[in-house]
Amino acid sequence: MSKNKFCVFCGEKPKNKNKEHVIPKWLIKMTGDPNRDILVGLNQDGTIKKFSINQFTLPACETCNTDFAKLEAETKPIMERILIGEKINSSEMSLILDWFDKVRIGLWLMYFVHDKNKANVLPKFHIKKRIGQYDRMLHIARSNSDEQRINFLGVQNFSFQMTPSAFGLIINNCSFINTSFEGLTSRRMGFPFFKKKYFVYKNDQFIFRVDLNQEGLQRVLTPIITTK
Ligand SMILES: [Zn+2]
Repeated sequence: MSKNKFCVFCGEKPKNKNKEHVIPKWLIKMTGDPNRDILVGLNQDGTIKKFSINQFTLPACETCNTDFAKLEAETKPIMERILIGEKINSSEMSLILDWFDKVRIGLWLMYFVHDKNKANVLPKFHIKKRIGQYDRMLHIARSNSDEQRINFLGVQNFSFQMTPSAFGLIINNCSFINTSFEGLTSRRMGFPFFKKKYFVYKNDQFIFRVDLNQEGLQRVLTPIITTK
Protein backbone atom coordinates (compact mmCIF):
# COMPACT_ATOMS: atom_id res chain seq x y z
CA MET A 1 0.00 0.00 0.00
CA SER A 2 1.27 3.48 -0.78
CA LYS A 3 2.32 5.13 2.43
CA ASN A 4 -0.18 7.98 2.03
CA LYS A 5 -3.20 5.86 1.13
CA PHE A 6 -4.26 4.57 4.55
CA CYS A 7 -7.05 5.76 6.81
CA VAL A 8 -5.45 7.21 9.94
CA PHE A 9 -8.01 5.34 12.09
CA CYS A 10 -8.40 1.84 10.62
CA GLY A 11 -5.32 1.64 8.35
CA GLU A 12 -7.37 0.45 5.36
CA LYS A 13 -7.74 2.24 2.04
CA PRO A 14 -10.05 5.15 2.98
CA LYS A 15 -13.71 4.62 2.07
CA ASN A 16 -15.45 7.84 1.00
CA LYS A 17 -12.17 9.51 1.76
CA ASN A 18 -12.12 12.67 3.79
CA LYS A 19 -9.56 14.41 5.94
CA GLU A 20 -8.85 14.05 9.62
CA HIS A 21 -7.28 17.04 11.34
CA VAL A 22 -4.64 15.39 13.51
CA ILE A 23 -4.74 18.45 15.76
CA PRO A 24 -8.45 19.22 15.84
CA LYS A 25 -9.73 22.61 14.74
CA TRP A 26 -11.23 23.31 18.17
CA LEU A 27 -7.77 23.01 19.72
CA ILE A 28 -6.18 25.24 17.10
CA LYS A 29 -8.86 27.84 17.83
CA MET A 30 -8.37 27.48 21.59
CA THR A 31 -4.63 28.15 21.26
CA GLY A 32 -4.51 31.18 18.94
CA ASP A 33 -5.50 32.48 15.51
CA PRO A 34 -7.31 29.57 13.78
CA ASN A 35 -5.77 30.52 10.43
CA ARG A 36 -2.16 30.60 11.57
CA ASP A 37 0.55 28.19 10.50
CA ILE A 38 1.49 25.60 13.10
CA LEU A 39 5.15 25.21 14.00
CA VAL A 40 5.82 21.49 14.13
CA GLY A 41 9.59 21.21 14.54
CA LEU A 42 12.71 21.57 12.47
CA ASN A 43 13.58 20.60 8.94
CA GLN A 44 16.81 18.67 8.42
CA ASP A 45 18.57 21.91 7.45
CA GLY A 46 17.60 23.46 10.80
CA THR A 47 14.88 25.76 9.45
CA ILE A 48 11.51 25.77 11.17
CA LYS A 49 8.94 23.39 9.76
CA LYS A 50 5.47 24.88 9.47
CA PHE A 51 2.13 23.53 8.36
CA SER A 52 -1.03 25.44 7.60
CA ILE A 53 -4.01 24.02 9.50
CA ASN A 54 -5.32 22.48 6.27
CA GLN A 55 -2.03 20.67 5.62
CA PHE A 56 -2.02 19.14 9.08
CA THR A 57 -4.34 16.37 8.01
CA LEU A 58 -4.29 12.70 7.10
CA PRO A 59 -6.78 10.71 5.01
CA ALA A 60 -9.65 8.95 6.79
CA CYS A 61 -12.76 6.96 5.93
CA GLU A 62 -15.90 9.01 6.30
CA THR A 63 -17.39 6.57 8.83
CA CYS A 64 -14.18 6.33 10.88
CA ASN A 65 -13.98 10.11 10.99
CA THR A 66 -17.61 10.40 12.08
CA ASP A 67 -17.06 7.81 14.84
CA PHE A 68 -14.11 9.73 16.24
CA ALA A 69 -15.83 13.13 15.94
CA LYS A 70 -17.79 12.08 19.05
CA LEU A 71 -14.56 11.69 21.04
CA GLU A 72 -13.45 15.15 19.91
CA ALA A 73 -16.78 16.71 20.86
CA GLU A 74 -16.66 15.13 24.31
CA THR A 75 -13.01 16.05 24.89
CA LYS A 76 -13.31 19.78 24.19
CA PRO A 77 -15.33 20.77 27.32
CA ILE A 78 -13.16 18.52 29.51
CA MET A 79 -9.98 20.15 28.17
CA GLU A 80 -11.48 23.60 28.80
CA ARG A 81 -12.05 22.64 32.42
CA ILE A 82 -8.56 21.20 32.87
CA LEU A 83 -7.05 24.44 31.53
CA ILE A 84 -8.84 26.51 34.17
CA GLY A 85 -7.91 24.07 36.93
CA GLU A 86 -11.28 22.38 37.50
CA LYS A 87 -11.37 18.79 38.69
CA ILE A 88 -12.51 16.04 36.34
CA ASN A 89 -13.94 12.66 37.31
CA SER A 90 -12.56 9.21 36.48
CA SER A 91 -14.74 8.60 33.41
CA GLU A 92 -13.71 12.00 32.04
CA MET A 93 -10.09 11.08 32.75
CA SER A 94 -10.54 7.83 30.85
CA LEU A 95 -12.01 9.74 27.92
CA ILE A 96 -9.19 12.26 27.82
CA LEU A 97 -6.67 9.40 27.91
CA ASP A 98 -8.42 7.97 24.83
CA TRP A 99 -8.06 11.38 23.20
CA PHE A 100 -4.34 11.48 24.02
CA ASP A 101 -3.98 8.00 22.47
CA LYS A 102 -5.66 9.39 19.35
CA VAL A 103 -3.48 12.49 19.13
CA ARG A 104 -0.26 10.63 19.95
CA ILE A 105 -0.76 8.00 17.23
CA GLY A 106 -2.11 10.65 14.84
CA LEU A 107 1.08 12.69 15.26
CA TRP A 108 3.19 9.56 14.81
CA LEU A 109 1.44 8.77 11.51
CA MET A 110 1.62 12.46 10.53
CA TYR A 111 5.40 12.52 10.89
CA PHE A 112 5.63 9.16 9.17
CA VAL A 113 3.90 10.59 6.11
CA HIS A 114 5.22 14.14 6.13
CA ASP A 115 8.71 13.66 7.52
CA LYS A 116 9.85 11.21 4.85
CA ASN A 117 9.67 8.22 7.20
CA LYS A 118 13.15 8.83 8.60
CA ALA A 119 12.99 5.79 10.91
CA ASN A 120 11.99 3.57 7.96
CA VAL A 121 9.09 1.92 9.79
CA LEU A 122 5.93 0.52 8.29
CA PRO A 123 3.06 1.23 10.71
CA LYS A 124 1.39 -2.03 11.80
CA PHE A 125 -1.30 -0.21 13.75
CA HIS A 126 -3.35 2.92 13.43
CA ILE A 127 -5.44 4.98 15.84
CA LYS A 128 -8.33 2.52 16.35
CA LYS A 129 -6.02 -0.28 17.46
CA ARG A 130 -4.24 1.86 20.02
CA ILE A 131 -7.12 3.47 21.89
CA GLY A 132 -7.12 2.25 25.49
CA GLN A 133 -4.85 -0.72 24.81
CA TYR A 134 -2.21 -0.34 27.48
CA ASP A 135 -1.58 1.17 30.89
CA ARG A 136 -1.70 4.93 30.46
CA MET A 137 -0.46 7.94 32.30
CA LEU A 138 -1.10 11.64 31.95
CA HIS A 139 1.04 14.09 33.88
CA ILE A 140 -0.44 17.60 33.94
CA ALA A 141 1.51 20.69 35.03
CA ARG A 142 -0.12 24.12 35.09
CA SER A 143 1.66 27.47 34.93
CA ASN A 144 0.43 31.03 35.43
CA SER A 145 1.18 31.95 31.82
CA ASP A 146 -1.64 33.55 29.84
CA GLU A 147 0.11 32.97 26.52
CA GLN A 148 -1.91 31.05 23.93
CA ARG A 149 0.14 28.29 22.35
CA ILE A 150 0.34 24.70 21.25
CA ASN A 151 3.60 22.74 21.11
CA PHE A 152 4.45 19.10 20.61
CA LEU A 153 7.36 17.58 22.47
CA GLY A 154 9.38 14.52 21.54
CA VAL A 155 7.40 13.55 18.44
CA GLN A 156 10.07 14.29 15.88
CA ASN A 157 12.85 12.24 17.41
CA PHE A 158 13.97 8.82 16.27
CA SER A 159 12.81 6.92 19.37
CA PHE A 160 9.22 8.22 19.03
CA GLN A 161 9.18 7.25 15.38
CA MET A 162 10.27 3.73 16.36
CA THR A 163 7.96 3.45 19.42
CA PRO A 164 5.23 6.08 19.77
CA SER A 165 4.56 5.44 23.45
CA ALA A 166 5.19 8.86 25.03
CA PHE A 167 4.97 12.49 24.01
CA GLY A 168 4.40 15.95 25.40
CA LEU A 169 1.76 18.48 24.48
CA ILE A 170 1.66 22.08 25.68
CA ILE A 171 -1.73 23.74 25.48
CA ASN A 172 -1.72 27.35 26.66
CA ASN A 173 -0.88 27.26 30.39
CA CYS A 174 -0.84 23.46 30.74
CA SER A 175 1.82 20.97 29.79
CA PHE A 176 0.88 17.33 29.41
CA ILE A 177 3.16 14.31 29.33
CA ASN A 178 1.31 11.25 28.07
CA THR A 179 2.63 7.69 28.21
CA SER A 180 1.03 4.44 27.12
CA PHE A 181 2.98 1.26 27.61
CA GLU A 182 2.26 -2.37 28.41
CA GLY A 183 2.89 -2.99 32.10
CA LEU A 184 3.48 0.69 32.93
CA THR A 185 1.39 0.65 36.12
CA SER A 186 -0.31 -2.76 36.41
CA ARG A 187 2.10 -4.40 38.87
CA ARG A 188 2.18 -1.56 41.37
CA MET A 189 -1.59 -1.03 41.04
CA GLY A 190 -2.12 -4.66 42.19
CA PHE A 191 -3.42 -5.99 38.84
CA PRO A 192 -2.14 -8.99 36.84
CA PHE A 193 1.26 -8.02 35.46
CA PHE A 194 4.03 -9.17 33.18
CA LYS A 195 6.64 -11.19 35.02
CA LYS A 196 8.81 -11.31 31.96
CA LYS A 197 8.81 -9.78 28.48
CA TYR A 198 10.97 -11.26 25.76
CA PHE A 199 11.30 -11.98 22.06
CA VAL A 200 11.49 -15.38 20.43
CA TYR A 201 12.90 -15.84 16.95
CA LYS A 202 10.61 -17.92 14.75
CA ASN A 203 10.16 -18.14 10.97
CA ASP A 204 12.62 -15.31 10.39
CA GLN A 205 10.71 -13.01 12.72
CA PHE A 206 11.09 -11.78 16.25
CA ILE A 207 7.83 -12.44 18.13
CA PHE A 208 7.02 -10.58 21.33
CA ARG A 209 6.05 -12.85 24.26
CA VAL A 210 5.11 -12.26 27.87
CA ASP A 211 4.81 -14.41 30.99
CA LEU A 212 1.88 -13.16 33.05
CA ASN A 213 1.34 -13.16 36.79
CA GLN A 214 -2.43 -13.75 36.89
CA GLU A 215 -2.93 -12.98 40.55
CA GLY A 216 -1.29 -9.59 40.78
CA LEU A 217 -0.04 -8.21 44.08
CA GLN A 218 -3.64 -7.27 45.08
CA ARG A 219 -2.41 -4.16 46.81
CA VAL A 220 -1.26 -0.73 45.65
CA LEU A 221 2.40 0.22 45.95
CA THR A 222 3.31 3.88 45.93
CA PRO A 223 4.67 5.60 44.04
CA ILE A 224 2.72 3.88 41.26
CA ILE A 225 5.43 4.70 38.71
CA THR A 226 9.08 4.44 39.60
CA THR A 227 12.14 5.21 37.57
CA LYS A 228 13.74 1.82 38.37
ZN1 LIG B 1 -11.06 3.95 8.25
